[in-house]
Amino acid sequence: MSKIVVVGANHAGTACIKTMLSQKTGDEVVVFDANSNISFLGCGMALWIGEQIKGSEGLFYSNKEELEGMGAKIYMEAPVDRIDFEGKKVYATLKDGTKKEESYDKLVLATGSWPIIPDVPGKDLENVQMVKLFQHAQEVIEKLKDEEIKSVAVVGAGYIGVELAEAFQRHGKKITLIDIADTCLPNYYDTEFTDLMRNNLAENGVDLAFGQRMERLEGENGKVKRVVTDKGTYDADMVVLCIGFRPNTALGKDGLETFRNGAYVVDKYQRTSREEVFAIGDCATVYDNTIDDVNYIALATNAVRSGIVGGHNAVGSDLESVGVQGSNGICIYDLKMVSTGLTYARAKKMGINAAYTDFDDMQKPEFIEHDNEPVKIRIVYNKDTRVIIGAQIASKYDISMGIHMFSLAIQEKVTIEKLSLTDIFFLPHFNKPYNYITMAAITAE
Ligand SMILES: Cc1cc2nc3c(=O)[nH]c(=O)nc-3n(C[C@H](O)[C@H](O)[C@H](O)COP(=O)(O)OP(=O)(O)OC[C@H]3O[C@@H](n4cnc5c(N)ncnc54)[C@H](O)[C@@H]3O)c2cc1C
Repeated sequence: MSKIVVVGANHAGTACIKTMLSQKTGDEVVVFDANSNISFLGCGMALWIGEQIKGSEGLFYSNKEELEGMGAKIYMEAPVDRIDFEGKKVYATLKDGTKKEESYDKLVLATGSWPIIPDVPGKDLENVQMVKLFQHAQEVIEKLKDEEIKSVAVVGAGYIGVELAEAFQRHGKKITLIDIADTCLPNYYDTEFTDLMRNNLAENGVDLAFGQRMERLEGENGKVKRVVTDKGTYDADMVVLCIGFRPNTALGKDGLETFRNGAYVVDKYQRTSREEVFAIGDCATVYDNTIDDVNYIALATNAVRSGIVGGHNAVGSDLESVGVQGSNGICIYDLKMVSTGLTYARAKKMGINAAYTDFDDMQKPEFIEHDNEPVKIRIVYNKDTRVIIGAQIASKYDISMGIHMFSLAIQEKVTIEKLSLTDIFFLPHFNKPYNYITMAAITAE
């Protein structure tokens, strides 16, 4: 029987704790988390802020009581301040201020990530907001009630920034979405797709200020009033910074091997450079099947999967990760976009001899007059090996489930030719006899 200490109990930590305890190995599980809540679905934050859901109640799927009921000892509002990797001890400060020393046989680090705050003048002004925790969403919702907050600037047009721009626009605020890149979502989609989202945002009243670097924030009476970029000045009574996340790895940076962005480097068993220390979720690397190498992709889905893998291995099972493809989706107003793997632009930048095949069609036969929408697909593949390395799909129709097949195709190194002969069913209620996936694959170069 071992004592396993877990640091961090959000998505990765919760998945790991539940996995370990459900194995009923008799191991002792002790957990420390700095926050007051467990399992907040940040993914639902924009829906909550934009009042598209009733409230925040459904955005939690676990809690201290559930995990304690399964057998863990949980300390909430108890940050771990230091780890002695040689002596195998963690040192935490408990909620009442007392210091706690806990020894371990195995340690699981699930400390997640934190928003990057650019070091620009004005970043400490009132109403400059980051969004990560449940508490941040509460702060933003309170501020939106303030009639003085008429304009909001969102800096960073990745998926969180784009979702929040929609949420604030739904409150009738004047929104400016700013990004240094010349479009939104460039990490996940090629220009033909980002243009769809760009037009969608503009048509719905979001002002776009792309291709601009934020230089400073200006305020009046201590409150933010403007964002100044290298190309313009934008009114902003609230500024939301969404430029990315950094792994929280201060605890182990001197004791464990880290990746170029500071994440703990882990193998496919979630083991760090120390055999008895595991790292999971946003604080760790993933194995990226699109590049056949370690990478950093911060997603709740990866956090949960790595938590399950880490949990099994921490209690002595032998479970290997199958790796990830960075599959993701976004729905803004009624435009849905999903992607997995590499974009064509990124593949080319990486020196891969990539090609793509596009197909635009209706989801269902034209004789289906209702609930039928145009669909756009791009499949990216390696011209030398013919293996599929990425896919993007966009529609107003719910095309989300289609991307999972591409995720598996990338994982299993399926060629574009094999995909063109894959058994895809036809029923007019759902699709066309010559469906857009098969057609894109058949028409590949
Ligand atoms: C607004 C928003 C929207 C998102 N939307 C999506 C989405 O649609 N789909 C998706 O897949 N992902 C989404 N994500 C990303 C997803 O939320 C993260 O990938 C996920 O939270 C990572 O989980 P984690 O448990 O690894 O880390 P975190 O959620 O960062 O949790 C880390 C935990 O560790 C604790 N901790 C940190 N340091 C210490 C310490 N020293 N001592 C004790 N405890 C500590 C923290 O209190 C926290 O509870 C979104 C994120 C945000 C912010």
